Amino acid sequence: MPVIAPSLLAANFLKLEDECKMLDESEADWFHLDIMDGRFVPNISFGPMIVEFVRKTTKKICDVHLMIVEPEKYTEAFKKAGADQLSVHIEACPDLQKNIQQILSLGMKPGVAISPDTPIADLADILPSIHHVCFMSVYPGYGGQQFIPKSFERIKQLRNMIDEKGLNVLIEIDGGVTTENAASIIAVFKSNDPKGIIATLKAIR
Ligand code: ZN
Repeated sequence: MPVIAPSLLAANFLKLEDECKMLDESEADWFHLDIMDGRFVPNISFGPMIVEFVRKTTKKICDVHLMIVEPEKYTEAFKKAGADQLSVHIEACPDLQKNIQQILSLGMKPGVAISPDTPIADLADILPSIHHVCFMSVYPGYGGQQFIPKSFERIKQLRNMIDEKGLNVLIEIDGGVTTENAASIIAVFKSNDPKGIIATLKAIR
């Protein structure tokens, strides 16, 4: 069963409590919280204070995605705010292993986020240490973008890498997932013939 993790960026922040309650009553599995610092990405979203408010509205998993530089400075603040899972960007972490160990030592499940132009092979060494990969299927920093088509090939590559290593790492697809393409994305995960599926999808367009 796929895990569904709606991003709070799509919420109406003037009605945050209502929006969170709606999500809490829905079948969503995780709350996905996108943190932007205006440095790693051009936009600024929100910080630990909002995560703390959200935490009070739900017992569901709070999945925090840090699109920030020097995430080690804020790891503890997000733990205190109630994060269950914390992803850091591979592009923002010169010593990624150290970041992952810090997240683990604070009792959160660690994830690594990867932007669309970063080679999947760069994840090889860190995969055994993490709970999930936050796979960016849009460029980080803005809501409402369309799913990048080359993501299908990259997801399959990541799936194969995880399977070859015999690991149990979740793949979280972040960005541009719609009711129209969700079935195709899941199909690419399961299919032995991803190229065939991709070709079929391209033919539809
Ligand atoms: Zn995200």
